[in-house]
Amino acid sequence: MLEDTVLRGGYCVGCGACTAVEHSPYKMAFSQYGMFSAENVAGDGQVNRLGAYRVCPFSESDKCESRIASTLYGSACNYDEHVGYYQNCYAGFVNDFGLRSNSSSGGMVTWLSQKLLREGFISAVIHVGMRRESDKNLFSYCVSFDEEQIFARSKTRYYPIEMSVVLDHVRRVPGRYLFVGLPCFSKAVRLLQEEDRQYKERIPYVFSLFCGHLKSSRFSDNFAWQQGIFPGTLSEIDFRHKLPDRLASDYAVEMIGETEEGVRRIVSPARKMFGSNWGHMFFAYKACDYCDDIVGECSDASFGDAWLPQFVNDPKGTSIVITRNIEIQNLVAIGMRKKELMLYDISNDALVRSQAGNFRHRRDGLSYRLYKLEQKGIWHPPKRVQARYSHLDQTRRAIYDLRQRIRRESHTLFLKAIENRDYNYFVRHLSPLTRRHDRLGQPLIRGALGRAKRLALGLLHRLKTVPK
Ligand SMILES: Cc1cc2nc3c(=O)[nH]c(=O)nc-3n(C[C@H](O)[C@H](O)[C@H](O)COP(=O)(O)OP(=O)(O)OC[C@H]3O[C@@H](n4cnc5c(N)ncnc54)[C@H](O)[C@@H]3O)c2cc1C
Repeated sequence: MLEDTVLRGGYCVGCGACTAVEHSPYKMAFSQYGMFSAENVAGDGQVNRLGAYRVCPFSESDKCESRIASTLYGSACNYDEHVGYYQNCYAGFVNDFGLRSNSSSGGMVTWLSQKLLREGFISAVIHVGMRRESDKNLFSYCVSFDEEQIFARSKTRYYPIEMSVVLDHVRRVPGRYLFVGLPCFSKAVRLLQEEDRQYKERIPYVFSLFCGHLKSSRFSDNFAWQQGIFPGTLSEIDFRHKLPDRLASDYAVEMIGETEEGVRRIVSPARKMFGSNWGHMFFAYKACDYCDDIVGECSDASFGDAWLPQFVNDPKGTSIVITRNIEIQNLVAIGMRKKELMLYDISNDALVRSQAGNFRHRRDGLSYRLYKLEQKGIWHPPKRVQARYSHLDQTRRAIYDLRQRIRRESHTLFLKAIENRDYNYFVRHLSPLTRRHDRLGQPLIRGALGRAKRLALGLLHRLKTVPK
């Protein structure tokens, strides 16, 4: 059950799917580290623990992403081991200046959500927007019923969210909903649809964002504090503020919050701030280190950033789109014909290249992380990659070890810094680790270490073969 596996191991990603099964014993709790997690509030009574277990995206269900996707898309799509099933892969943007500017990448999620609503395919969109009035957190899952609401909720939120409230809404209020989520959330919705027909009927479309990993709310606090906004006093944040004279990947973070000089709006380039390097894994959920789905393989369409040289020069932002569902594919094709969408076919190889570091971390890196757990006989969520050790050199293993350590320590050190009211405490303790990580990643160092190792092995061999 979840208590003995996912919850005990710390693999809960806080999606909230387990709360939506009938007679679920779980509700969502928010930790001092700024992350959601399921909590058993009913004990062992007459509750549906098995149903909750079956819909958890990290449980030992026999339904991995490939199995779920093959039932949904297997008959009409091509297959690639990284992209999953696909009809087409595109890069491009929405040919509407306002919509594109207001989005994170090329505005494709917002355009398609509005299109599905306008054409009567759906009656509402479930996605992430600014907080509901009752919430303490800055963002939460919301239901949008018109195009203005959908537009207002564009943009990427690197922020902890959970879907128990919106899933409860779907159960209570009949309708045809589009669900937008991260890959593990989309998988959870698919599992829930297998468990409960109502969710299958009422959520006819699922979209997924590509995902590097999910962040705790401390990711926002960390940026804000560097600008003089103490944790807890940040009121708004835009993680993907586009800068007109920079590369698309060189975006800024826009924050509004309480500083010593009163409430201020601050825009700061992301890359200048401590903790902005996604390779360091600051504030990531542990579950994200044990996930092998980057593009959201169980969804009708997936959307990411076109981090490719031919697109990254355009600061207005470019999307990558994978289509799997024929109705979505048709809407995209019509949009292209009418020049509402400026999309270009890209190969699945180019798509994989655009997320190369991410795939390395969640294929090669994941194999190694699984190996380490299996050596110690510790349970881990079942994965599609095998536990392996010797596919990596020593330097690469050290890099993955450091990432896990930085992830773990970022949570506890930040809390300690808040207790001490001293941001530098956090930087002082983490920066030696990030510096070591970056040094190991430099080709020069990797080359030197490789050469030193070869030299040492050569010497050893010579010593062994010197006649006595
Ligand atoms: C945690 C996270 C990690 C990501 N990692 C990567 C990555 O490694 N590589 C990559 O290429 N892309 C990644 N993305 C996706 C990328 O940032 C864009 O969201 C995506 O390209 C869509 O851009 P768009 O312009 O089409 O979306 P927009 O038109 O701006 O619309 C965004 C839509 O997503 C919804 N949304 C925002 N945040 C969330 C959320 N947390 N959960 C569910 N729905 C949400 C919004 O409500 C809106 O409907 C990530 C997104 C998130 C939230």
